[in-house]
Amino acid sequence: MYISIDLGGTNIRGTWVSAGGDYGPVRPQSRPRTLEGTKQSLEALIQDVQARAPEPVRGIGLATAGPLDHRRRMYLTTTNMPELNQFRVGEFLEHRFSLPVRMENDAQAAALGEVWAGGLAGTADAVVITLGTGVGSGVIMNHEIWRAGHFTGPELGHVYLGPGPKRSCAIGTSTLPSCGCGQVGCAEAWLQKAALMEMVVRCGFAAQDPKDIFGDLEQGSRDAMRIMDIYGRRLGLYLSVLQVVFGFADIGISGGLSTFFPYFQDGMWSTLRHRFVNREWWLPRRIAPSPEPEMSALLGMARVFVLESRGSTDWKPEDAQ
Ligand SMILES: [Zn+2]
Repeated sequence: MYISIDLGGTNIRGTWVSAGGDYGPVRPQSRPRTLEGTKQSLEALIQDVQARAPEPVRGIGLATAGPLDHRRRMYLTTTNMPELNQFRVGEFLEHRFSLPVRMENDAQAAALGEVWAGGLAGTADAVVITLGTGVGSGVIMNHEIWRAGHFTGPELGHVYLGPGPKRSCAIGTSTLPSCGCGQVGCAEAWLQKAALMEMVVRCGFAAQDPKDIFGDLEQGSRDAMRIMDIYGRRLGLYLSVLQVVFGFADIGISGGLSTFFPYFQDGMWSTLRHRFVNREWWLPRRIAPSPEPEMSALLGMARVFVLESRGSTDWKPEDAQ
Protein backbone atom coordinates (compact mmCIF):
# COMPACT_ATOMS: atom_id res chain seq x y z
CA MET A 1 0.00 0.00 0.00
CA TYR A 2 1.30 3.41 -0.97
CA ILE A 3 0.42 7.04 -0.41
CA SER A 4 -0.03 9.00 -3.63
CA ILE A 5 0.00 12.78 -3.62
CA ASP A 6 -0.82 15.10 -6.52
CA LEU A 7 0.62 18.55 -5.90
CA GLY A 8 -0.38 21.28 -8.35
CA GLY A 9 -0.20 25.04 -8.58
CA THR A 10 -3.31 25.68 -6.51
CA ASN A 11 -4.34 22.33 -5.04
CA ILE A 12 -2.92 19.33 -3.27
CA ARG A 13 -4.71 15.97 -3.22
CA GLY A 14 -3.86 12.54 -1.95
CA THR A 15 -5.03 9.09 -1.02
CA TRP A 16 -3.81 5.55 -0.42
CA VAL A 17 -3.45 3.19 -3.39
CA SER A 18 -2.91 -0.56 -3.12
CA ALA A 19 -0.55 -2.62 -5.26
CA GLY A 20 -3.67 -3.98 -6.94
CA GLY A 21 -5.00 -0.55 -7.89
CA ASP A 22 -7.65 -0.08 -5.19
CA TYR A 23 -7.72 3.35 -3.65
CA GLY A 24 -9.29 5.41 -0.93
CA PRO A 25 -11.23 8.66 -1.00
CA VAL A 26 -9.43 11.71 -2.38
CA ARG A 27 -9.67 14.97 -0.49
CA PRO A 28 -8.55 18.02 -2.46
CA GLN A 29 -7.45 21.07 -0.54
CA SER A 30 -5.94 24.37 -1.52
CA ARG A 31 -2.18 24.69 -1.27
CA PRO A 32 -0.54 27.68 0.42
CA ARG A 33 1.73 29.43 -2.06
CA THR A 34 4.75 29.40 0.27
CA LEU A 35 7.43 26.76 0.88
CA GLU A 36 6.64 26.48 4.59
CA GLY A 37 2.91 26.30 3.96
CA THR A 38 3.41 23.62 1.33
CA LYS A 39 5.59 21.56 3.69
CA GLN A 40 2.90 21.75 6.36
CA SER A 41 0.15 20.82 3.90
CA LEU A 42 2.16 17.83 2.67
CA GLU A 43 2.84 16.61 6.20
CA ALA A 44 -0.76 17.01 7.32
CA LEU A 45 -2.17 15.29 4.23
CA ILE A 46 0.25 12.36 4.43
CA GLN A 47 -0.43 11.89 8.15
CA ASP A 48 -4.15 11.92 7.46
CA VAL A 49 -3.94 9.38 4.62
CA GLN A 50 -1.53 7.18 6.60
CA ALA A 51 -3.94 7.09 9.52
CA ARG A 52 -6.79 5.99 7.25
CA ALA A 53 -4.86 3.48 5.13
CA PRO A 54 -6.19 -0.05 5.69
CA GLU A 55 -2.70 -1.59 5.46
CA PRO A 56 0.84 -0.47 6.34
CA VAL A 57 2.21 2.16 3.96
CA ARG A 58 5.42 1.26 2.12
CA GLY A 59 6.17 4.41 0.20
CA ILE A 60 5.11 7.92 -0.73
CA GLY A 61 4.70 8.90 -4.37
CA LEU A 62 4.48 12.54 -5.40
CA ALA A 63 3.10 13.56 -8.79
CA THR A 64 3.63 17.24 -9.46
CA ALA A 65 4.19 19.92 -12.05
CA GLY A 66 7.77 20.58 -12.93
CA PRO A 67 10.26 20.83 -14.26
CA LEU A 68 11.73 18.45 -11.70
CA ASP A 69 14.52 15.93 -11.27
CA HIS A 70 12.83 12.61 -10.54
CA ARG A 71 16.15 10.95 -9.63
CA ARG A 72 17.11 13.49 -6.98
CA ARG A 73 13.41 14.02 -6.17
CA MET A 74 13.65 17.78 -6.24
CA TYR A 75 12.06 20.69 -8.07
CA LEU A 76 14.12 22.56 -10.63
CA THR A 77 13.16 26.07 -11.75
CA THR A 78 9.41 25.52 -11.95
CA THR A 79 7.03 27.05 -14.47
CA ASN A 80 4.28 28.15 -12.10
CA MET A 81 5.45 27.42 -8.54
CA PRO A 82 8.49 29.64 -7.85
CA GLU A 83 8.13 29.08 -4.09
CA LEU A 84 9.15 25.46 -4.67
CA ASN A 85 12.20 26.12 -6.86
CA GLN A 86 15.09 23.80 -5.90
CA PHE A 87 13.03 22.27 -3.05
CA ARG A 88 14.40 18.81 -2.22
CA VAL A 89 11.01 17.39 -1.40
CA GLY A 90 12.22 13.77 -1.45
CA GLU A 91 14.74 14.33 1.33
CA PHE A 92 12.25 16.37 3.30
CA LEU A 93 9.56 13.67 3.25
CA GLU A 94 11.94 10.76 3.77
CA HIS A 95 13.36 12.46 6.83
CA ARG A 96 9.91 13.22 8.17
CA PHE A 97 8.19 9.86 7.50
CA SER A 98 11.06 7.36 7.17
CA LEU A 99 9.49 5.96 3.99
CA PRO A 100 10.91 5.81 0.46
CA VAL A 101 9.74 8.74 -1.66
CA ARG A 102 9.35 8.81 -5.43
CA MET A 103 8.60 11.87 -7.53
CA GLU A 104 7.34 12.14 -11.09
CA ASN A 105 6.09 14.75 -13.48
CA ASP A 106 2.31 14.68 -13.07
CA ALA A 107 1.58 13.98 -16.74
CA GLN A 108 4.04 11.10 -16.86
CA ALA A 109 2.54 9.70 -13.67
CA ALA A 110 -0.90 10.06 -15.27
CA ALA A 111 0.30 8.14 -18.33
CA LEU A 112 1.55 5.33 -16.11
CA GLY A 113 -1.78 5.28 -14.27
CA GLU A 114 -3.77 5.12 -17.51
CA VAL A 115 -1.87 2.12 -18.92
CA TRP A 116 -2.01 0.35 -15.57
CA ALA A 117 -5.57 0.82 -14.34
CA GLY A 118 -7.20 3.53 -16.45
CA GLY A 119 -8.60 3.84 -19.97
CA LEU A 120 -5.69 1.88 -21.47
CA ALA A 121 -5.36 -0.78 -18.75
CA GLY A 122 -2.95 -3.51 -19.79
CA THR A 123 -1.41 -1.58 -22.68
CA ALA A 124 2.39 -1.87 -23.06
CA ASP A 125 3.06 1.11 -25.36
CA ALA A 126 1.11 4.34 -25.56
CA VAL A 127 1.22 8.10 -25.65
CA VAL A 128 -0.99 9.78 -23.04
CA ILE A 129 -1.83 13.45 -23.28
CA THR A 130 -3.22 15.41 -20.34
CA LEU A 131 -5.40 18.35 -21.31
CA GLY A 132 -5.86 20.93 -18.59
CA THR A 133 -4.25 24.13 -17.37
CA GLY A 134 -1.33 23.06 -19.54
CA VAL A 135 -0.80 20.20 -21.97
CA GLY A 136 1.25 17.38 -20.44
CA SER A 137 2.44 14.15 -21.92
CA GLY A 138 3.76 10.76 -21.01
CA VAL A 139 5.20 8.17 -23.34
CA ILE A 140 4.98 4.60 -22.10
CA MET A 141 7.14 1.91 -23.63
CA ASN A 142 7.01 -1.67 -22.41
CA HIS A 143 4.81 -0.57 -19.45
CA GLU A 144 7.33 2.01 -18.19
CA ILE A 145 7.89 5.74 -18.58
CA TRP A 146 10.15 6.52 -21.52
CA ARG A 147 12.61 9.24 -20.54
CA ALA A 148 13.89 10.12 -24.00
CA GLY A 149 17.25 11.89 -24.09
CA HIS A 150 16.11 14.34 -21.46
CA PHE A 151 16.13 13.06 -17.91
CA THR A 152 12.79 14.84 -17.54
CA GLY A 153 11.19 12.85 -20.37
CA PRO A 154 9.76 14.31 -23.56
CA GLU A 155 7.55 17.38 -23.15
CA LEU A 156 5.25 16.89 -26.09
CA GLY A 157 3.10 19.89 -25.19
CA HIS A 158 5.86 21.98 -26.68
CA VAL A 159 6.01 20.56 -30.19
CA TYR A 160 5.22 23.16 -32.83
CA LEU A 161 1.61 23.12 -33.99
CA GLY A 162 1.41 26.34 -35.97
CA PRO A 163 1.78 30.10 -35.69
CA GLY A 164 -0.05 31.77 -32.83
CA PRO A 165 -2.19 32.05 -30.84
CA LYS A 166 0.06 34.97 -29.94
CA ARG A 167 -0.25 34.52 -26.26
CA SER A 168 1.72 32.95 -23.50
CA CYS A 169 1.10 29.24 -23.10
CA ALA A 170 1.49 29.72 -19.38
CA ILE A 171 -1.82 30.03 -17.58
CA GLY A 172 -3.51 33.38 -17.40
CA THR A 173 -4.14 36.33 -19.60
CA SER A 174 -0.58 37.28 -20.36
CA THR A 175 -0.10 38.89 -23.72
CA LEU A 176 3.49 37.72 -24.06
CA PRO A 177 3.99 36.36 -27.57
CA SER A 178 5.86 33.31 -26.41
CA CYS A 179 5.25 30.09 -24.54
CA GLY A 180 6.64 29.57 -21.03
CA CYS A 181 9.22 27.31 -22.67
CA GLY A 182 10.53 30.19 -24.79
CA GLN A 183 9.00 29.12 -28.10
CA VAL A 184 5.90 30.26 -30.01
CA GLY A 185 3.16 28.13 -31.54
CA CYS A 186 3.41 25.28 -29.05
CA ALA A 187 0.62 22.68 -28.95
CA GLU A 188 0.01 23.79 -25.37
CA ALA A 189 -0.95 27.28 -26.54
CA TRP A 190 -3.63 25.77 -28.82
CA LEU A 191 -5.04 23.12 -26.52
CA GLN A 192 -4.74 24.33 -22.93
CA LYS A 193 -7.77 25.29 -20.89
CA ALA A 194 -7.19 29.02 -21.53
CA ALA A 195 -7.34 28.43 -25.31
CA LEU A 196 -10.66 26.62 -24.98
CA MET A 197 -11.92 29.32 -22.64
CA GLU A 198 -10.99 31.96 -25.17
CA MET A 199 -13.28 30.34 -27.74
CA VAL A 200 -16.07 30.00 -25.17
CA VAL A 201 -15.89 33.71 -24.35
CA ARG A 202 -15.56 34.75 -27.99
CA CYS A 203 -18.77 32.87 -28.78
CA GLY A 204 -20.58 34.95 -26.20
CA PHE A 205 -21.13 32.39 -23.47
CA ALA A 206 -21.36 33.84 -19.96
CA ALA A 207 -18.93 31.30 -18.53
CA GLN A 208 -16.22 31.36 -15.89
CA ASP A 209 -14.90 27.94 -16.84
CA PRO A 210 -15.17 25.79 -19.98
CA LYS A 211 -17.25 23.30 -17.96
CA ASP A 212 -19.96 25.96 -17.76
CA ILE A 213 -20.95 25.10 -21.36
CA PHE A 214 -21.67 21.44 -20.56
CA GLY A 215 -25.36 22.21 -20.27
CA ASP A 216 -25.32 23.93 -23.67
CA LEU A 217 -23.59 20.91 -25.19
CA GLU A 218 -26.15 18.55 -23.74
CA GLN A 219 -28.90 20.67 -25.25
CA GLY A 220 -27.17 20.64 -28.63
CA SER A 221 -26.22 24.32 -28.80
CA ARG A 222 -24.73 24.91 -32.25
CA ASP A 223 -22.14 27.37 -30.95
CA ALA A 224 -21.05 25.04 -28.18
CA MET A 225 -20.80 22.11 -30.62
CA ARG A 226 -18.79 24.28 -33.02
CA ILE A 227 -16.31 25.10 -30.26
CA MET A 228 -15.88 21.40 -29.54
CA ASP A 229 -15.46 20.65 -33.25
CA ILE A 230 -12.66 23.22 -33.57
CA TYR A 231 -11.01 21.97 -30.39
CA GLY A 232 -11.26 18.39 -31.64
CA ARG A 233 -9.68 19.32 -34.97
CA ARG A 234 -6.81 21.05 -33.21
CA LEU A 235 -6.32 17.96 -31.10
CA GLY A 236 -6.51 15.73 -34.18
CA LEU A 237 -3.78 17.79 -35.84
CA TYR A 238 -1.64 17.50 -32.72
CA LEU A 239 -2.16 13.74 -32.42
CA SER A 240 -1.30 13.30 -36.11
CA VAL A 241 2.08 14.92 -35.43
CA LEU A 242 2.72 12.60 -32.49
CA GLN A 243 1.46 9.60 -34.43
CA VAL A 244 3.96 10.15 -37.26
CA VAL A 245 6.73 9.96 -34.65
CA PHE A 246 5.49 7.19 -32.35
CA GLY A 247 2.87 5.28 -34.35
CA PHE A 248 1.44 3.55 -31.29
CA ALA A 249 -1.85 1.69 -31.56
CA ASP A 250 -3.13 3.32 -28.38
CA ILE A 251 -3.43 6.93 -27.29
CA GLY A 252 -4.81 8.01 -23.92
CA ILE A 253 -6.42 11.34 -23.05
CA SER A 254 -6.57 12.50 -19.46
CA GLY A 255 -6.67 15.80 -17.58
CA GLY A 256 -9.66 17.96 -16.69
CA LEU A 257 -10.62 18.72 -20.30
CA SER A 258 -10.82 15.02 -21.17
CA THR A 259 -14.38 15.11 -19.80
CA PHE A 260 -15.26 16.90 -23.07
CA PHE A 261 -14.10 13.84 -25.02
CA PRO A 262 -17.58 12.74 -26.18
CA TYR A 263 -18.04 16.16 -27.76
CA PHE A 264 -14.65 16.67 -29.41
CA GLN A 265 -13.90 13.13 -30.55
CA ASP A 266 -15.64 13.45 -33.92
CA GLY A 267 -13.59 16.49 -34.92
CA MET A 268 -10.44 14.79 -33.65
CA TRP A 269 -10.98 11.58 -35.64
CA SER A 270 -12.10 13.50 -38.70
CA THR A 271 -8.83 15.42 -38.84
CA LEU A 272 -6.73 12.31 -38.18
CA ARG A 273 -8.46 10.37 -40.97
CA HIS A 274 -8.17 13.30 -43.35
CA ARG A 275 -4.46 13.73 -42.72
CA PHE A 276 -3.69 10.01 -42.97
CA VAL A 277 -5.89 9.36 -46.00
CA ASN A 278 -2.98 7.71 -47.83
CA ARG A 279 -1.42 6.18 -44.73
CA GLU A 280 -4.32 4.54 -42.92
CA TRP A 281 -1.94 2.33 -41.01
CA TRP A 282 -0.68 5.41 -39.18
CA LEU A 283 -4.06 5.82 -37.48
CA PRO A 284 -4.15 4.74 -33.84
CA ARG A 285 -6.38 1.74 -33.16
CA ARG A 286 -8.07 3.58 -30.32
CA ILE A 287 -7.99 6.88 -28.49
CA ALA A 288 -9.26 6.29 -24.98
CA PRO A 289 -10.41 8.95 -22.52
CA SER A 290 -9.57 8.37 -18.89
CA PRO A 291 -12.51 6.90 -16.94
CA GLU A 292 -11.40 9.01 -13.97
CA PRO A 293 -8.94 11.77 -14.88
CA GLU A 294 -8.61 12.87 -11.24
CA MET A 295 -7.09 9.47 -10.41
CA SER A 296 -4.63 9.01 -13.31
CA ALA A 297 -1.53 10.49 -11.65
CA LEU A 298 -2.35 9.09 -8.20
CA LEU A 299 -2.61 5.57 -9.60
CA GLY A 300 0.59 6.14 -11.57
CA MET A 301 2.63 6.95 -8.46
CA ALA A 302 1.64 3.66 -6.86
CA ARG A 303 2.54 1.91 -10.09
CA VAL A 304 6.07 3.38 -9.83
CA PHE A 305 6.56 1.41 -6.60
CA VAL A 306 4.95 -1.73 -8.01
CA LEU A 307 7.31 -1.67 -11.00
CA GLU A 308 10.30 -1.14 -8.72
CA SER A 309 9.32 -4.10 -6.59
CA ARG A 310 9.31 -6.16 -9.79
CA GLY A 311 12.85 -5.15 -10.65
CA SER A 312 12.25 -2.18 -12.94
CA THR A 313 15.54 -0.76 -14.16
CA ASP A 314 14.09 2.70 -14.67
CA TRP A 315 15.39 4.24 -11.48
CA LYS A 316 17.48 3.15 -8.53
CA PRO A 317 17.89 4.94 -5.18
CA GLU A 318 21.63 5.18 -5.78
CA ASP A 319 20.90 7.42 -8.77
CA ALA A 320 19.71 10.07 -6.33
CA GLN A 321 23.18 11.54 -5.72
ZN1 LIG B 1 6.07 25.74 -25.26
